[in-house]
Amino acid sequence: MNEKFVIAIDGPAASGKSTTAKQLAIKLKYIYIDTGAMYRASGLCTLLQNISLDDKIALKEMLDKISIRIEYAEEGNRIYLNTEDVSERIREADITKLSSQIAVIEIVRNKMVELQRKMGEDGGVIMDGRDIGTVVFPNADFKFFMIADVRTRALRRWNEAKDNGEVIPLEDIKEELIWRDKNDTTREISPLKQADDAIPIDTSKMTIEEQVEMIYSIIKRGLNA
Ligand code: C5P
Repeated sequence: MNEKFVIAIDGPAASGKSTTAKQLAIKLKYIYIDTGAMYRASGLCTLLQNISLDDKIALKEMLDKISIRIEYAEEGNRIYLNTEDVSERIREADITKLSSQIAVIEIVRNKMVELQRKMGEDGGVIMDGRDIGTVVFPNADFKFFMIADVRTRALRRWNEAKDNGEVIPLEDIKEELIWRDKNDTTREISPLKQADDAIPIDTSKMTIEEQVEMIYSIIKRGLNA
């Protein structure tokens, strides 16, 4: 695809956004930007620098100096926080929770949105997150909102953990997803919600291939319309 569109994919955790976005990016030869990883890296930064989320002055100083860099690769992007590769560390359970806690803070969101707009300004990007179609790129060329029932989402995370040799009770995963959904949808600033002009996709009964194909065909149809 020669056009350099901005494609926004929002939705709750484990709704299929990132797997779909990654594969779609390869198909379209676009760059994939995982904005959740940026909130995760910011959360990790507070932990490494021993900064309390209540200390807004220290948080502001941290954000003024923070460097979050994504190295793009087909086999999986790498995330660097202030030159350190934190790609694996940010996926751990403590950072998952911290990322949702730090994401309610206005100065943090302002900084992340500024970085994300810069990363996507030339187009040719697929960005996934919670507020891409509503706040970061309200004029995105294509907007999708992916959902799936909580049991399916929990099973997906359970299977991922199993593939990595971890055994986590399904109920614990489900509880964590429900907690995060609530935190993300009820926060005051940029809560997780479907943009009015986003196309909803329920992935509960879909395979990844079907999800990719569905979005790809919608984009193609949009181009030919
Ligand atoms: O997408 P992922 O699950 O890695 O995101 C981690 C957390 O970061 C989410 O639970 C959410 O609180 C926050 N987030 C956000 N806005 C985004 C992306 C992620 O608030 N655009």
